Amino acid sequence: MAKKYKGPAIGIDLGTTYSCAAVWQGQNNRAEIIHNDQGNRITPSFVAFTTDLRLIGDAAKNQASRNPGNTIFDAKRLIGRKYSDSVIQDDIQLWPFKVVAGTDDNPQIIVQYMGEEKRLCAEEISSIVLTKMREIAEKFLESPIKNAVITVPAYFNDSQRKATKDAGAIAGLNVMRIINEPTAAALAYGLQKRKSNVEKRNVFIFDLGGGTFDVSILKLKGDSFEVKATSGDTHLGGEDFDNRMVSYLVKEFKRKNTVDISGNPKALRKLRNAAEKAKRTLSFDLEAIIDIDALYQGIDFALSVSRAKFEQLNMDLFEKCLEIVKSCFSDAKMDKSSIDDVVLVGGSSRIPKVQQLLHEFFEGKELCSSINPDEAVAYGAAVQAALLSEDVNNVPKLELQDVTPLSLGKAVVGDVMTVVIPRNTSIPVKITKEFFTIEDNQSAAEIKVYEGERMIASENNLLGLFNLPIRRAPRGLTVQVCFTIDADGILNVSAEEESSGNKKDITITNENGRLSCEEIERMIKEAEHFKSEDMKHMEKVRAMNALNI
Ligand code: AMP
Repeated sequence: MAKKYKGPAIGIDLGTTYSCAAVWQGQNNRAEIIHNDQGNRITPSFVAFTTDLRLIGDAAKNQASRNPGNTIFDAKRLIGRKYSDSVIQDDIQLWPFKVVAGTDDNPQIIVQYMGEEKRLCAEEISSIVLTKMREIAEKFLESPIKNAVITVPAYFNDSQRKATKDAGAIAGLNVMRIINEPTAAALAYGLQKRKSNVEKRNVFIFDLGGGTFDVSILKLKGDSFEVKATSGDTHLGGEDFDNRMVSYLVKEFKRKNTVDISGNPKALRKLRNAAEKAKRTLSFDLEAIIDIDALYQGIDFALSVSRAKFEQLNMDLFEKCLEIVKSCFSDAKMDKSSIDDVVLVGGSSRIPKVQQLLHEFFEGKELCSSINPDEAVAYGAAVQAALLSEDVNNVPKLELQDVTPLSLGKAVVGDVMTVVIPRNTSIPVKITKEFFTIEDNQSAAEIKVYEGERMIASENNLLGLFNLPIRRAPRGLTVQVCFTIDADGILNVSAEEESSGNKKDITITNENGRLSCEEIERMIKEAEHFKSEDMKHMEKVRAMNALNI
C-alpha cells in the first residue's frame, strides 16, 4: 500500500512549452483544471529576467521578443542532460539565450538580472515554473500547498526524472510521485470511459507535445490500469516543427533581402512566434500568412506558407513518430488490431498530417479526441495526487501499474552490457543478479551501472559507478547486485559480497551530475530570495499605482 500524505495535493503537467495544474474535487467527482491569473488553463513554461523583475508564464512569454536573451524556455529539453550532448548542441544554435558548460559538463543558462549576470541550471528554471503553478493552485484553493504529483515523459531517463524531482524540491514542493505523461493521460481517459461503463479496453496513447513524444499501450480492466509497453523520444515535438519552420523562414528572408538574420536573437524570436502561430493555423487552414513589420533593420517580412510546405519541412519527423509507434507494438508483443481506442494527447497531436499517418497505420480506425489534449495529463496527475492523499474524499478506486522505459544493467568484462531489468518491466521492481570476479585476489569489484539498449555498455548512459571492497579470493567469487526501481521510476543499486559474512551495501544515490543536497539547499534559499525580490517589486508597483490615483 502506497504511503499517504497529509494536506491538499495537486497534479502538475510540467510541459516543455506549457504547464498545467489540476486538483481532484471530491464533491464534483472530477479533477478541476486550474486557471492562472490571466484566466488561461495552461501557462507558458517561460521565465524572464529584466533589470528590475522576474516574470513567469504569460507575462514572460509576452515580452520575449523585446528581451530574447533573458527569456528562458525549453528548460525541459535541458533537464538531466549534459552540455556536450549533441541534442543540446543543436538546440543551442536556435536558442536566443546563452547556455554554457558548468561543472561536470552540466549546462548553465546565463541571464542578466537586476544588472548582474546570473547563472542558472535547468532545474532552477523548472522550479520557478513549478512555483508559479503552485501559487496559481494556492490562489484557487485558498490554502497553502506542499504536495504534488509531477508528470514526466515516459521516455525520460533516470537523470531526467531525478532532476525533475530536484526541481520540485527547489520549488519547496513535496513531490509525492513522478508519473509518466501518457499514463496520466490514460487515467483521465479511463475514468471518463468508466463512466460509460466500458469494462475492458486496450488503449493506445499517442502523446506529441511541445518537446517530447511518448506512446504507451495500456490495458484497462475494471479498476486496473496496466501499462504494457512504452516508447518515445525525449527530444521530438512541436518545438522541432517550429525550428524547421524558422530555418525555412530565415532562408526565405535571405533569398528575398540578401540579409542573414540567423545570428540575431530578436529577429529569431519574432520569427519563432510567427512560425508557431502559423503552424497552429495550418492545423485548420490550408494556408497561413506570416506578416512581420520591421523584422530586421526596418525590413518587413511577409510570406504565405501552405500546409503542404509545412508537411514537407517536417515529414521525416512525422515518419519518425510512426517508427516509434511501431517499436512500441513490437515491445508489447501486441498487434495494432487489438487496440480498442487510439487516444490523442499533446498539442502537436492536432497536426492533420500526424493524424492522417496514424489513421492509416491503424487501418482507418477513428482516432479518439474526446479528452482535451492540453489538459489530460494534468487531470491524470491530479487523480494520482488524490490517491496519495489522506485528506481527499471521493477518490476514484484504481490500481496503476507502470513500466520502466529503458533497460538497466551493469557492465561486465569486455565492455558488455548485462541487462538486469529489461525495458518495459512493470514497476516497482527489485531484481538481484549474481556476478563473479574474473581475477584471483581481487580487492574490489567495480559496479558500473548503465541504462540503454546498446550491447556495448559504454555506448549506453552511465548512471553511476562504485567499487565494492571484497574478500581476497580466487576468481569466481560471487557478488550479488540488486537493482530496485521505485514507483517514480527511479533506480537504486546495491551490491554485496556475502561469503565473508562481511556484508556491505552501497547504493547509488547521487550519480555524477545530479545536484547535491547542499546545492538544492542553496537553490531553495536563492528561490526564496528571488521571491522576496519579486514581492518588493510588486509592493513598489502597488505604491506607485496608489500615488497615481
Ligand atoms: P503540450 O506540450 O502538450 O502543451 O503541446 C504544446 C505544443 O503543441 C506546442 O509546440 C504547440 O505549438 C503545439 N500545438 C498546440 N496547438 C496546436 C495546433 N492546433 N496545431 C499544431 N500544434 C499545436
